[in-house]
Amino acid sequence: MTTSEFPKGTILGYPRIGRRRELKRAVEAFWAGSIDAAELEERAAELRAATRERLAGLGLGRADSAIPESFSFYDQVLDAAVAVGAVPARFARLVGDDGTVDLAGYFTIARGEGDDAPLEMTKWFDSNYHYLVPELAPDTAFSAHADRLVAEFEEAKAAGFLTRPVLVGPVTFLALAKAADGAPEGFRPLDRLADLVPVYAELLARLAAAGALWVQLDEPALVSESLDVSRERVIEAIGAAYDALGAGSDRPSIFVAAPYGGLDDALPALAATPVEAIGFDLVKGSVPASLDPATAESLAGKTLVAGVVDGHNIWRGDLAAAFDRVEALANLSGSVAVSSSTSLFHVPHDVADETRLDGRLAGWLAFADQKVAQVATLATGLVEGRSAIEPELAAATASLADRALAPGVRVPGVRERLEGLRGTDFSRDDYAARVAAQESLALPELPTTTIGSFPQTADIRRARARLVKGELTEAEYTAAMREEIERVIRLQEDLGLDVLVHGEPERNDMVQYFAELLDGFAVTEHGWVQSYGSRCTRPSILWGDVSRPEPMTVSWSTYAQSLTPKPVKGMLTGPVTILAWSFVRDDQPLGDTARQVALALRDEIADLEASGIRIIQVDEPALRELLPLKLADQRDYLDWSVGSFRLATAAAAAATQVHTHLCYSEFGVVIDAIRNLDADVTSIEAARSRMEVVDDVAASGFDHGIGPGVYDIHSPRVPSVDEVWQLLERAAAEIPASRLWVNPDCGLKTRGYEETVASLEHIIEATRAVRAGV
Ligand code: GLN
Ligand code: ZN
Repeated sequence: MTTSEFPKGTILGYPRIGRRRELKRAVEAFWAGSIDAAELEERAAELRAATRERLAGLGLGRADSAIPESFSFYDQVLDAAVAVGAVPARFARLVGDDGTVDLAGYFTIARGEGDDAPLEMTKWFDSNYHYLVPELAPDTAFSAHADRLVAEFEEAKAAGFLTRPVLVGPVTFLALAKAADGAPEGFRPLDRLADLVPVYAELLARLAAAGALWVQLDEPALVSESLDVSRERVIEAIGAAYDALGAGSDRPSIFVAAPYGGLDDALPALAATPVEAIGFDLVKGSVPASLDPATAESLAGKTLVAGVVDGHNIWRGDLAAAFDRVEALANLSGSVAVSSSTSLFHVPHDVADETRLDGRLAGWLAFADQKVAQVATLATGLVEGRSAIEPELAAATASLADRALAPGVRVPGVRERLEGLRGTDFSRDDYAARVAAQESLALPELPTTTIGSFPQTADIRRARARLVKGELTEAEYTAAMREEIERVIRLQEDLGLDVLVHGEPERNDMVQYFAELLDGFAVTEHGWVQSYGSRCTRPSILWGDVSRPEPMTVSWSTYAQSLTPKPVKGMLTGPVTILAWSFVRDDQPLGDTARQVALALRDEIADLEASGIRIIQVDEPALRELLPLKLADQRDYLDWSVGSFRLATAAAAAATQVHTHLCYSEFGVVIDAIRNLDADVTSIEAARSRMEVVDDVAASGFDHGIGPGVYDIHSPRVPSVDEVWQLLERAAAEIPASRLWVNPDCGLKTRGYEETVASLEHIIEATRAVRAGV
């Protein structure tokens, strides 16, 4: 093994979608058949080359393994699965004679084909990125496929760079994988560790042979206490995996990165292994204050990489405090380096691309490129001493001070209202009284409804684009949206739905729509962040105190209600989801910010109610998503998240029916929280998991209205009447008809009209059959 020093400054990863979403365009062009694999490869290589040049220009070393090779065509977990040969049996046809999967095959595993469902997708730790879940069986045959890793490293070398390959580590890979269908009861992917580690060793050997001096293995599983597999087993696995990998003689030096939280009780196990460098997330976590002597001694012999530049948020932050944290690590080891706390793929590329942001606000921000520069600055400080970077530290401190005092950051009226809140502001009348008051809605048994959005047609999107370009006047745009609302109302009446929606045509996005109408938010032009695969979101920036200058949804909802005697649901996005899908100020507790948003929504609900809307839905699809990885933090989170939902909805009269919608079926984990929301009706995803969730619902004693989805809107497939009928029968067996609602899994905005109408017809027909007891 060759040893080489770890670079003084590095990042754990960089956005890979491209400054102008070039990768998204290329990948989608390949899917559409308008470019071939060779051209896609070429464009990806150009992007990687530009990234390396950029990172070097921003101050990372060209030849010291400082630049990570963190590119992915779709997802880093899928990359790891393919690199270790873990392709599910249903995709065996995609594996070539040499055991590799070509680009087309790779995308097929990600996106499915015909009856072969894609890998499941789920959230990556506490971020809004979604990875593909590997499926493993006791007999999955692992094999090493290093060609892509090696090719990217060599491509860099040819351009004059010595970079650092990055790979999801073996423990995290297994901890995130799920047992393949048909695997025996009790089988855990982590049971396969001993079979997988030699394959990783082979990958490392190939990289060493190509000349890689360092490799980065990402092990965020080591910081999480919220995995499907027990913490004890994960900690045990670390020792087994890294003792074995470390024992290899033909390997690069190993850097284990542990982003998204503190290593805490996993640190002793990792420290005891022969890995050469450990990356700490010092933004979310810390190094335990007291270390046992053995751990302290082990750490003294390793490079400790201080993740002090927040990779997960867009604030410029307190650079001087970050440097203090780096210096503190120097007490533990003579070899310390600086890095981002996580990969930077959670943030957009470059603040300088934003021409329309307020200049003062822009000065408080750091996107990926600014963060790389911060890392480079701190690394210089490490080498040359604090005085060498004093001007940069002082500038960041001055920017923070500017931010603290800027108008809009602290608005007295908003603060006073928050301080004046009392316990009673968070509670409605009791449920029984509400049920009685809501009888005036005169709903049938098993009421039918939808989750809110109807298909966002090309016409709708075109109208919005023309409004932005100034080709449509505000009045023309409103007229076009009203026409669409009328069409959607008539359609729902014809279908025979009981509770109607206006269809949300006017919403570009369920968070951005509100961010644009609330004070305290800014939106970006190019601030795209990968959500999954080629999908990106453009989070808004919540920078100041939040308030509502004027009603946001009332005119649309009342227009819709004016068209029909049936109740039309008002439709709002809840405070937790607005926070989860935005970049949120970091200068006060999230709970305070959430309550500000909640008060704005509370006013909106009052206005909707006053103008005759009798049912109001407040969507919280992100409630589960923000749940902290550490058990000790979850209670506080659930307190403020549930509290803010209640604050938003509690002023509604007893006769107003409050609905909420949650996009997932892992009901069990947060059941108490869902119950505490105290919504009159909760709709959840259930069709995808074939109604399994109703068992949890019933077992939990949940006693409010519940609408387990009967139509999986993630696929264009139309469920048959019989299929919906069976799902409903299954639900009705466990949930009393008086509380059971009938609805799809989620909103219909990504669906086409043809399948939507057919599916809703089947839902109505099946509901009638169940009501009639046939
Ligand atoms: N009301 C939203 C819609 O129907 C809810 C979307 C969501 O849950 N993500 O589109
Ligand atoms: Zn949903």
